[in-house]
Amino acid sequence: MQTHFTPAQLADPGLRESEKILRKCVHCGFCTATCPTFVLAGDELDSPRGRIYLIKDMLENSRPASELVVRHLDRCLSCLSCMTTCPSGVHYMHLIDHARSYIEATYRRPWPERALRALLAAVLPRPMLFRLALMGAALARPFARLVPGRSATAARLRAMLRLAPASLPGRSALEGARVHPAQGVRRKRVALLAGCAQQVLAPAINEATIRLLTRMGVEVVVASGAGCCGALVHHMGRHEAALSAARANVAAWTREIEGEGLDAIIVNASGCGTTVKDYGFMLRGEPEWAEKAARVAGLARDVSELLAELGYQPAPGARPPPLRVAYHAACSLQHGQKITKEPKALLAAAGFTVLEVPEGHLCCGSAGTYNLLQPEIAGQLRARKLANIASRRPDLIASGNIGCMTQLAGGGLPVVHTVELLDWAAGGPAPADVNHAALASPPPPA
Ligand code: SF4
Ligand code: SF4
Repeated sequence: MQTHFTPAQLADPGLRESEKILRKCVHCGFCTATCPTFVLAGDELDSPRGRIYLIKDMLENSRPASELVVRHLDRCLSCLSCMTTCPSGVHYMHLIDHARSYIEATYRRPWPERALRALLAAVLPRPMLFRLALMGAALARPFARLVPGRSATAARLRAMLRLAPASLPGRSALEGARVHPAQGVRRKRVALLAGCAQQVLAPAINEATIRLLTRMGVEVVVASGAGCCGALVHHMGRHEAALSAARANVAAWTREIEGEGLDAIIVNASGCGTTVKDYGFMLRGEPEWAEKAARVAGLARDVSELLAELGYQPAPGARPPPLRVAYHAACSLQHGQKITKEPKALLAAAGFTVLEVPEGHLCCGSAGTYNLLQPEIAGQLRARKLANIASRRPDLIASGNIGCMTQLAGGGLPVVHTVELLDWAAGGPAPADVNHAALASPPPPA
C-alpha cells in the first residue's frame, strides 16, 4: 500500500512503525473472511482492511480521531485472526495498538464512557479493588435486568453485572510473592505471572499450575513487585499505564534473572502472555529498559509450551474419566502466540478425548474488556461459540485464558483451564465443576 507520510511525521517512532506496517498491506482482503466483526456485520469498515484504511487516513492526515473511526476501531476485538490469515505479514496488532493510543490522545469520549473506562482501568488490574468490586456486583447481579434504558452505558452496566460471578472463590493459600520449591531434583527455575483479575476469579488456575510444575521438578517463583501485565489498559489505548505495568514486571523479573536465574517466565493467561511476549517492542524506545524488556520477552512462555517441553505425562493410576473436552483456542494463544498444537496434545496425553470446535478461529467475544464495552457484539459471538461447542457434544470446555473462561461460563457446560485438567490427570484434585461433569457425563455418540 502506498503511503504519504512526511519526513517530519516519520521522525515519530510510533508513526514510523505504523507506516512500515501499512506499506506491507496489499489490500487483498483475505483477512476479511476470518474477521469476526466482518463475519457478523458484513461491513468493510468492520473488517481488518477497512480498519487499516481508516487508520492510514487518520494518521497520514494527522487528523484527530473522528466518531466514525472510533466506532469501527472500538469494534475491533484485537483477536488477531487477521494476522493469522494475512499472507503479507501485516503486523495488525502493533498498528491497532498505536491507533488506540492515538484515539485516546485525540478523541474525547462522552463522559459516561470516559468514567466507565477510567473505572475499569483503575479496578481490573488491582486484585484487591477488583475483589471488592465483584463483591458489590454479586449483590447487584440479580437486578441486572432492572437497569433501565437502551443507551450504550445501560447495556454496558447490564453486561458488567451479568458477567460478575454469583459468588467468589476464597483467596488462595498460595497467593503472594514467594518461592515454591521443586519436588525432587530441580530441573528448571521459572517465574510465574500471578496475574490480576485471574487470581481473584479463579485462584485454582495458579494453584494447579504451581502443583503441576513443582511436581515435575520446576521451582516456581512468584516475584515480588510483579503484577498486572498491562494488557487490559494497553487495549484501551492507555499507553503510559501499560508501559508502567510492563516496566514494573521487567524490573521484578530482572532481579530474579540476575539473582538465582530464570529458565522461563510462565504465563497461564494467554491474553497476558501475548503482551509479555511483546514487552521488547513496547519498551524498545527506552534505553534503560529496552534490553531488559527484550530479555524478559524472550523468556516468556505459555504454560503449555513449558509442559510440552518438559514431556508432561499423567500420573500412572491417576487417570481421570475419559471426558470429552471441547478445546476452546483462545485468540491470544492461537493467533497472538501461534500456539495451536501443544494444549490439545497435552490434553490427549492426559487421557481426555479432545474435540475440535467448528469455527475455532473465531473469537468468543471476551477480548479483555470488550465484553464489557461492546456487549452486543460480544453476546453474538458468545452465542455462536457456544452453539459451535455444543455441536460436538462435549462434557466440558477447556481453555487457556481466563477471559474466555469467564465469557463462556454459564453456557450450560463447565469451563476449566487446560492446566487444571492436566494437573488432575497428574495426581492433583479434580476441578469442582468437572467432578460434577464426570458424574453427569452422557455416553459419547456412537
Ligand atoms: S490479508 Fe493482509 S495484505 Fe491482505 S488486506 Fe488483509 S491485512 Fe492487507
Ligand atoms: S483483530 Fe480481529 S476483530 Fe480486529 S480486525 Fe483483526 S480479525 Fe477483525
